[in-house]
Amino acid sequence: MIPAPHRHTPAKIDLAAIRRNLIKIRRHIGLNDDGKAPEFWPAVKANAYGHGAVKVSRAIEDLVGGFCVSNLDEAIELRDGGLLKKPILILSGIVPEDASIARELDLTLTAPSLEWLELVVNSNQDLSGLKLHIGIDTGMGRIGVRDFAEANAMIDLMDNHGLIFDGVFTHFATADEVDTSQYDLQASRFADVLSNLSRRPRYVHSTNSAAGIWHSEQVQDIERLGLALYGLNPSGRALMLPADVKLEAALSLQSELTHVKEIQAGDTVGYGATFTASEPTFIGTLPIGYADGWARDLQGFHVLVDGKFCEIVGRVSMDQMTIRLERRYPIGTKVVLIGRDGDLEITADDIADYRGTINYEILTSLSDRIYREYF
Ligand SMILES: *Cc1c(COP(=O)(O)O)cnc(C)c1O
Repeated sequence: MIPAPHRHTPAKIDLAAIRRNLIKIRRHIGLNDDGKAPEFWPAVKANAYGHGAVKVSRAIEDLVGGFCVSNLDEAIELRDGGLLKKPILILSGIVPEDASIARELDLTLTAPSLEWLELVVNSNQDLSGLKLHIGIDTGMGRIGVRDFAEANAMIDLMDNHGLIFDGVFTHFATADEVDTSQYDLQASRFADVLSNLSRRPRYVHSTNSAAGIWHSEQVQDIERLGLALYGLNPSGRALMLPADVKLEAALSLQSELTHVKEIQAGDTVGYGATFTASEPTFIGTLPIGYADGWARDLQGFHVLVDGKFCEIVGRVSMDQMTIRLERRYPIGTKVVLIGRDGDLEITADDIADYRGTINYEILTSLSDRIYREYF
């Protein structure tokens, strides 16, 4: 899908808020056990959680040590976008035959297993100088090795093939939860692997937003900060953000009325005719739908018009949806879907709660058709 700037349904992105969020979290986290400030390698995967990977990365480039992405194409996008100076870590295993692309672009790869690394070194590519971070699976169960012997065999293999053992990391499954038992188990497993490694690499890291914010004892050499950078609470509403980490949501979503009419008692609206007016009712139409990531199950939720909540009535269609208005408003009247209008606000958390999901999914679901505007 191509972005649709002519349709007035923009996501407005405040790059200065992203910078302020990063600076606040950096101050909150402070120093690691060695008395050094960790580097920040923000997660700008999934198009920077919908905020625009190149734009966001350029806006914070001077504040960060590197960047984290999820796959080779996201890393290529950053290099093509002019982000040439800082390391870029790909957080999952790539296709072994593509390792030479990573070396050419000076990308850092995750080595998720000995089997993967053997495929890489036996693939007949020129890989000397390629940097790798070994992934340790301490309980997430996704990628990574589970014991230090395998990790040490990987270090030997790197040494024998001119690859650089640059880092080792793990990833927490429950750093955003009140109950820390699983977190503590993972932290102790990671410490155990580290103490048995044949040597310590340049970078040891484990903290996503939640671990960085709520487990400062875990801070090591890199903070893989994701969601909090964009101003949202990684625990949703489970844990309160610390007082010194007042985050600002960087993304708001707006639209405008393209059509307003009055319908009569008994008239229906939308596919499936799921809404029937019980009295004369003003209906407004907005140019956004489930193909924009504004999900079909948002029927019954609300948007803001003129500083007031208006219910979404009828099913959300692919490209349009309908709301109930208090009175007739003119075409072009502004509608807020995420953000503030007067005293009221709709947050990604409100939408996530209504849909039974998490704020991460709300942001990353916004499709390319929604034009991103920067200020
Ligand atoms: C996405 C991701 C992060 C960032 O997570 P947030 O919860 O958004 O801070 C960090 N590490 C890994 C391995 C990830 O996949």
